Amino acid sequence: MMYCGDDMLMLSGIQHFRFCPRQWALIHIDQQWDDNRLTMEGSLMHQHADDPFYRQKCGDYISLRSVSVASYQLGLYGVTDVVELHPADDDENAISHPRYPGWWLPYPVEYKHGKPKKHEEDEVQLAAQAMCLEEQYDIRIDYGAIFYAEIRHRVEVAISEKLRQIVTDCARQMHEIFSSGQLPTIQRGRHCEKCSLKNICMPESVDCTRVSHYLKKNLYEETS
Ligand code: SF4
Repeated sequence: MMYCGDDMLMLSGIQHFRFCPRQWALIHIDQQWDDNRLTMEGSLMHQHADDPFYRQKCGDYISLRSVSVASYQLGLYGVTDVVELHPADDDENAISHPRYPGWWLPYPVEYKHGKPKKHEEDEVQLAAQAMCLEEQYDIRIDYGAIFYAEIRHRVEVAISEKLRQIVTDCARQMHEIFSSGQLPTIQRGRHCEKCSLKNICMPESVDCTRVSHYLKKNLYEETS
C-alpha cells in the first residue's frame, strides 16, 4: 500500500507509539501535550541539532542537519536531526550531492538527551528515518547512530530486519488507530512513571497532597 498527502503521519511519533500507543494517540489524535523534565531536555537539545541552514564538512564526511524525509510505503514523514554523508565511491548505495562532488553513503544520526534505553524506541525511530531515506534514494542503509547527551557517546545501530519489521508493524498500526480515531486503552506499567502525559491519561493519579500542603503552609497560615 502507498499512502499519500493527508494520510501521512509524523515519523517522530513512532518513538511515542513504541513507548506506548495510548501516549502517541493522546498526542497525535487528541492533540494533548504536557512537557515534563525529560521532554523539555529533549526539546532544548533538538534546538541545537535541528538547524536547517547548517551543513558542515567534518574531515572526510559531510554533516547535513534537518533533512526532510518521507516514505509513502510507511506513510511517514519528518525531519532527521543529522544525516552524515560518508565517502563511498565504490558502493552501489552511494548517492551524489549537488554541493559536494563524489559519491556518498547516507548515515542518519539521531540526538537524544538521555542514555540508551532498555526498550528500542530510539532505534525504531532511527530505523524509520533510514527506511525513508532508502525509499527516497532507492538505496539500502545498513547503519545509523544515536548520540546520547547524558553519556556524551554515540551508539551505532544496525538497521536490522527485526527493526525494519517493527517499524513496518508500528506504522501500519498507527494508521489503523489514526483512521479509527479511538484512543487505545490504558496499559499501566513502569513506563507510566516516565510518561509526560500521565496526568492527562490518568487524572485520578495526580498527587494533590503536595498542592494542598503548599496552600496550607503558604496561603492559609499567612492570612490566619
Ligand atoms: S500514563 Fe501509561 S498508559 Fe497512559 S499514556 Fe502514559 S505510558 Fe501510556
